[in-house]
Amino acid sequence: MKVIGHLINGTLNTDGDSAAGSRLQDVTNPSTNTIIGKVALASKATVEEAIAAAQAAYPAWRNLPTAKRVRIMYRLKALLEQHANTICEHITREHGKVFNDAMGELQRGIENIEYVCSAPEMLKGEHSRNVGPAIDSWSELQPLGVCAGITPFNFPAMVPLWMWPMAIACGNTFVLKPSERTPSSALFIAELGIEAGIPPGVLNVVNGDKEAVDTLLIDKRVQAVSFVGSTPIAEYVYSTATGHGKRAQAFGGAKNHAVIMPDADLDNAATALMGAAFGSCGERCMAISVAVAIGDKCADALVAKLTEQIAVLQVGDGMDSRNDMGPLVTPAHLKKVEGFIAAGIEEGAELVVDGRGMKIPGYERGNYLGACLFDRVTPKMTIHSQEIFGPVLCIMRADTLQEAMDIINTHAYGNGTCLFTRDGGTARYFSDNIKVGMVGINVPLPVPVAHHSFGGWKRSLFGDLHAYGPDSVRFYTKRKTITQRWPASSQREGVQFNFPSNG
Ligand code: NAD
Repeated sequence: MKVIGHLINGTLNTDGDSAAGSRLQDVTNPSTNTIIGKVALASKATVEEAIAAAQAAYPAWRNLPTAKRVRIMYRLKALLEQHANTICEHITREHGKVFNDAMGELQRGIENIEYVCSAPEMLKGEHSRNVGPAIDSWSELQPLGVCAGITPFNFPAMVPLWMWPMAIACGNTFVLKPSERTPSSALFIAELGIEAGIPPGVLNVVNGDKEAVDTLLIDKRVQAVSFVGSTPIAEYVYSTATGHGKRAQAFGGAKNHAVIMPDADLDNAATALMGAAFGSCGERCMAISVAVAIGDKCADALVAKLTEQIAVLQVGDGMDSRNDMGPLVTPAHLKKVEGFIAAGIEEGAELVVDGRGMKIPGYERGNYLGACLFDRVTPKMTIHSQEIFGPVLCIMRADTLQEAMDIINTHAYGNGTCLFTRDGGTARYFSDNIKVGMVGINVPLPVPVAHHSFGGWKRSLFGDLHAYGPDSVRFYTKRKTITQRWPASSQREGVQFNFPSNG
């Protein structure tokens, strides 16, 4: 059985946790629930070994010209493209999402590498001549030291690529802790990083669970922590890391609403909602899980169109290109999502399409759930207040745009949202006043491109700086401002007790 181990100091360890006896956990294919590998769960000692390697590699790496650090990224981009099929097979086999969706995820990750390649431009700092008499001043962005990343199961290749390429391009060294449910793609990409020329110790990967995470959060040598995952863990990671003096950003869960105005192009809106709600089986932090239709006429028409489209949605194994949607990640997660569906019925929502009990011929043991559509969902229902993270779309009905916006603005989460309309004024009012971090107008999944930054509001993000893009340069560096003059040796000045100024 394949062991998915750790990459420490440039060496891949496939024997599991060498430092303190092996703890191994099954990695399964969600389509069949067969065991396809064993992931090593790092002990505290193993994580400390990785941190020590990162710490030792830091001085030389920090002082390498940025252009040389970035040249490795160019090579990595080429390797990622060359090995895209292998990476995406890992993603589909462990996560379940359809292969083309995995390709989309990888492409978004590669776009982050492309952005990182402009690090020399982003790190060149600011200079001012003559800030005082013959005094010059400049600001530079210096790396932090050892940084850590902890990532979720649902974007196993892309989310790590939000983090470590920028961190190391800025001169930091890194320890990545991928999701133990989908560990192979992140590890394989890190191996490609080593092949591209990343020196030993600069990028380390430790697989593991809470023990590994807690070690990263507490160890004094780790300067900054980036986390992506569920809100309770994000909050825990943020408070623990900052409580131990670290810089932290922790991206959490979501409940993303679309608002459909009566003037919207309803056919396009329904098609867009299908992909946004059911793509990746709803296991996306930017998935649209609620559609608020304005007016009963709009709601009835929307429900009819969605019902029609769900009937032809192809569910099945992610490696079969005819399928639109694969299985959920684990039997436990399937059970949890089914629990939410039961709660929705119990609380009085109308289950228009019931995807439960789906059996795919040849894949009977897989975690399959067909698309589900609830109508007449109200704000207090569990299926509205909680993140379901499955193929369940809730329709809510509101009389006005303001009522829909109030539903969104009072929700605990604020990751993404979108509005379908043909009216520019309505769109502008919505994007100006909605309390959500990422907004789409007739764009259902407004995931920012790599040269903008990604982040939600409210309980979808703990911290100040967003992921990737310009914010990530700020996150992975600290500003230093140097003020300098070279007085002539003949020049003598008296003591000055007043605060220096140009006054
Ligand atoms: P998760 O919180 O269960 O796990 C995320 C990471 O935290 C994993 O590496 C895991 O090993 C670790 N972890 C889990 N429990 C822990 C604990 N008790 N202590 C310390 N570490 C722990 O999340 P998940 O199920 O892997 O991912 C799905 C969640 O991630 C959803 O809520 C989704 O919305 C969210 N997500 C958010 C974004 C975003 O950018 N906001 C992006 C992707 C996913």
